[in-house]
This record gives sequence, C-alpha cells and structure tokens, in this order.
Amino acid sequence: RLEVTGLRRSFGGAPVVDDVSLAVAAGQVTCLLGPSGCGKSTTLRMIAGVERPDSGAIRIDGRAVFGAGVEVPPEGRSVGLMFQDFALFPHLTVAQNVAFGLTGEKAAKVRRVGDLLERVNLAGYGDKHPHELSGGEQQRVALARALAPRPRVMLMDEPFSGLDNRLRDGIRDATLEVLKEEGTAVLLVTHEPDEAMRMADEIALMRGGRIVQRGAPYNIYNAPVDKAAAAFFSDIN
Ligand code: ATP
Ligand code: MG
Repeated sequence: RLEVTGLRRSFGGAPVVDDVSLAVAAGQVTCLLGPSGCGKSTTLRMIAGVERPDSGAIRIDGRAVFGAGVEVPPEGRSVGLMFQDFALFPHLTVAQNVAFGLTGEKAAKVRRVGDLLERVNLAGYGDKHPHELSGGEQQRVALARALAPRPRVMLMDEPFSGLDNRLRDGIRDATLEVLKEEGTAVLLVTHEPDEAMRMADEIALMRGGRIVQRGAPYNIYNAPVDKAAAAFFSDIN
C-alpha cells in the first residue's frame, strides 16, 4: 500500500507539485492523468526517492519512507521503477539484466527470471544482449527487471508508449496480471485516456501540480470535473 500526504516541490520558486495526496491499495492501479508539465513525473520521482520533496509524507505498507525526519534511500523503499527512459545494462545479457536486483539462491533466481521472460513474451531471449533486441523488446526486458524483486509499489511512467499496437495490449495485460498476483500497489502515468480506462481501478486527474479529480474510471468518464477533463475523455471509442 502506498500513501502520499501533502507532497510539495518547487523549482526556482514555482510550485510544480502542490499538495498532492493519494493512496493506492495493494493490488490496485491508480492512473495519474494530466497534461504535459503538470507534475506527474516529479511526483513519481519523489515517491521513488530520487527527488526530494520540500514537504509531505510518504508511507509504503505502513512504514514511513519520507517525512517527519525520515528519509529512506531509493533502494530501501521496495519501489520498482519503469520509466520512459529505461536503460538496460549493455554489457549484461537479458537474463542477467532481469536478475540484477535479485538476491538469494541461484535456482530460485533462474526460475524467477524464466517465469518473467515468459510473461513478457521473451522466452528464449535470456542469453541475448540488449543491442540485439528491438526497442520494444528492450522495454519488455526492463519491465521484467522492474518486476523481478517483487516491489511493494510499482511506479510506471508511460511504460507502454514505445510498444507497437499489436504487442501493447498483451504486454499490458501480462504486466497487470503479475502486479495483481503479487499484490503490488501501482501508480501509472499515462497520456492516453483509453489506457487509463482499461487499466485503472482509480484515476487521478492532475493539473498545475494538483489533483483536481479522483475516482473510479467510469465515474470520471461520466462526470468529468470540467470541460478540459471532458475533452480529454471525448476521443475514447
Ligand atoms: P510530461 O507529461 O511532459 O512528462 P510531467 O507532468 O511529467 O510532464 P514533470 O516532469 O513533473 O511534468 O515537470 C513538471 C514541471 O516541473 C515542468 O515545468 C518541468 O519543467 C519542471 N521541472 C521538473 N524537474 C525540474 C528540475 N529538476 N528543475 C527545474 N524544473 C523542473
Ligand atoms: Mg513526465
């Protein structure tokens, strides 16, 4: 479970994230939707621990990871990241990339890696190197790598945007299935309303650093907070 309270961050005196609060239960997906520059990625980076909030509190499974004098480093937060600019280790094989954050017994790691590669449709790719893969294949390896250590919270910043349409639905569904099975709380940033409608248990509409509306996809679709929100959903078929 992810709980964020009163998160704020300014750059050069301009508030970019302005009192954001949200909660995502285990096994649930919240989609953060909003125009370019509204503060989505900055919000995710603060939760991940790679950007420092000016104020606010972040709890993961009930444990404070930021706030009231606490600041847990990124690697101690049990947070998985899948960002637009994912980067694989070029000198490692696909299997080594996926196994990178794993500890413990070798046989268990091999099983986990094999299972994940199968789920992202890359069974048999384990011994290849990233430069031998297409962009979409590399992205799926990055997904498997993010899932591998079973993080309690998964932060995804348009993770499916580079995939071609034919593959996207399948990878999206497979990713969701793994995350749901493992009870991961997911915060997913997307520009695409139909992706949000399809994947989200809850949608949070963000604008100018603030969350302006929150609710079940169906409710937001049917009762958008204003004209801009209505226009945003109008091209869904
Ligand atoms: P997009 O949909 O285009 O990815 P976003 O909602 O993710 O947009 P952010 O990346 O969170 O937007 O950026 C929000 C605002 O904060 C932007 O105006 C951006 O220029 C500014 N900003 C982000 N990081 C920094 C930084 N390190 N220094 C200065 N300004 C920053
Ligand atoms: Mg962004």
